[in-house]
Amino acid sequence: MCGIVGYVGNKPAVPILLEGLKRLEYRGYDSAGIALAEIGRLIVQKKIGKVSQLEKELNSFNVVAAGIGHTRWATHGAPSDINAHPHTDCKNEIALIHNGIIENYNAIRTKLEKDGHVFKSATDTEALVHLIEEMKKYSGDLETAVRLALRQVEGTYGIAVISSKEPDKIIAARKGSPLIIGIGENENFLASDAAAIVDYTRKVVYLEDGEIAVICKNSVDTKTIDNKTTEKQVEQVTIDLAQIEKGGFSHFMLKEIMEQPETLRNAMRGRVLLEEGNAKLSGLDGVKSVLENAQRIILAACGTSWHAGLVGEYMLEQYGKVSVETEYASEFRYRDPIVKPGDVVFLISQSGETADTLAALHEAKQKGAAVLGICNVVGSTIARESDGGVYIHAGPEIGVASTKAFTSQLVVLSLVTLLIARQRGMSEKEGRNICAKLLELPQKVQAILHRATEIEKIAEELKDSSNFLYLGRGYNFPVALEGALKLKEISYIHAEGYPAAEMKHGPIALIDENMPVVVIAPKDRTYEKIISNIQEVKARHGKVIAIVNEVDPRIAALADYLIQVPETADFLSPVLTIIPLQLLAYYIAVKRGCNIDQPRNLAKSVTVE
Ligand code: GLU
Repeated sequence: MCGIVGYVGNKPAVPILLEGLKRLEYRGYDSAGIALAEIGRLIVQKKIGKVSQLEKELNSFNVVAAGIGHTRWATHGAPSDINAHPHTDCKNEIALIHNGIIENYNAIRTKLEKDGHVFKSATDTEALVHLIEEMKKYSGDLETAVRLALRQVEGTYGIAVISSKEPDKIIAARKGSPLIIGIGENENFLASDAAAIVDYTRKVVYLEDGEIAVICKNSVDTKTIDNKTTEKQVEQVTIDLAQIEKGGFSHFMLKEIMEQPETLRNAMRGRVLLEEGNAKLSGLDGVKSVLENAQRIILAACGTSWHAGLVGEYMLEQYGKVSVETEYASEFRYRDPIVKPGDVVFLISQSGETADTLAALHEAKQKGAAVLGICNVVGSTIARESDGGVYIHAGPEIGVASTKAFTSQLVVLSLVTLLIARQRGMSEKEGRNICAKLLELPQKVQAILHRATEIEKIAEELKDSSNFLYLGRGYNFPVALEGALKLKEISYIHAEGYPAAEMKHGPIALIDENMPVVVIAPKDRTYEKIISNIQEVKARHGKVIAIVNEVDPRIAALADYLIQVPETADFLSPVLTIIPLQLLAYYIAVKRGCNIDQPRNLAKSVTVE
């Protein structure tokens, strides 16, 4: 959730840490801090607010020393200067940054306080740095102390620790939170996300759960928490710097919305076999027969990815003729679900690091199912721990509100559906038809993006509403959920998505002349029904914004606003109907003066439970 960055080498650390923190700020941004270790001196500076606030106060720009930096997304203790990381021990010798949650922090803290440790913050994290201090009494060196301390910790962590007694190194360790070591020349880096270090190196080593790394300027040693040396491979990251910059757009979210024709092409590149009417997904080659014989498929995900999963469920059942359930990953893990060998569980996560989704993967694996990832971040934990999977290749998504990842997930789920449907009797002709429709999507998305100004005008008129309702049926019910989520996330307007027919079972009570109702009404088999739903809204004076395929006089006579999207196959229509809803949410939030890329309380990549 938070961002972690570290540097050890011959250059001043602060500019490198700051640059890294800025790149990571989308992951958590309630406070930020850095620590530098020199012989006999620890410098710690931290501040509530954004990295820019911290930057104003920093004054150690020229110090050459090992350093660590952190952006926080508070779980325990309100955002404040004191609760910001790094946290330090009683003697101000050791500094630690942490991503995750130390679940038994209270017990550790109570015991250590009895033994005389003085705590400064309200965080769970501080317990760990005092515990390391305590362990140093037995071990002497920092690495052993960290190892001894971690053995007593329950919960999840990605940590980086430095000490003024051993200022030539950073000790890093992970369990449940991502950490990447960047390998340089006479310098090495540490980060929770490759984006923080690609300016300096493309060579990386992924730390695994249960590993500890000792990072010096000329060496990186990794061991398990039980002190066994581990062999690591140096891998190459391929992020392009332009992908993690705004490139002229006012916000990452707008850039990412506008990128969708391209990201959809990337999701399909080399995978759509038009002639054969099939999909080629090499990441699933190893599990072909498992897919062919699966009695049941489970799609586990959170948030926007869960909405994509719901669309996937509809497609897979309709075309793949297989029984599918979409699960909230956070619920799946704790409700002792029935999963059997032979079941296939797809884990959908943009970052590939979502803690709940990763836990669902472990649950499913342990119960004998085949686990397959649908992730964006190459080399992410879910991708690495799966038996196979498909990357969505949307490029880095920085905007906290997911947009391009959603449409790429939908396209990948369509390809998976096509593959499974062809295994289970779909004709080549029907397969070809689907391929053709898939390939038309990018240009159709482009056509909708050309209508941005139209949508901006509607946003201007609706921006002061306090509530919104989103209605859709069939494949567009999940789009109603996703449209409402986008609006909530970035504009803080209360919004609900509903299956249109469910409206009369409750939400209809909310409709009056102040309630905008977004109705997704493409020309599909529920079209007639949805016209009746629009009638019901209008009869109660609600304002209707209709997403339609063509301006037909019946809807035109009823709706207050119409937004046209091109026609496509029913199951692909969410890829198109979500686009105007992303733009609507975006423009409403801009007009309300909201912080689009860093909406309050949210963080990208939810790596805590
Ligand atoms: N649990 C820690 C805290 O609240 C770390 C949160 C984070 O991952 O940023 O300070």
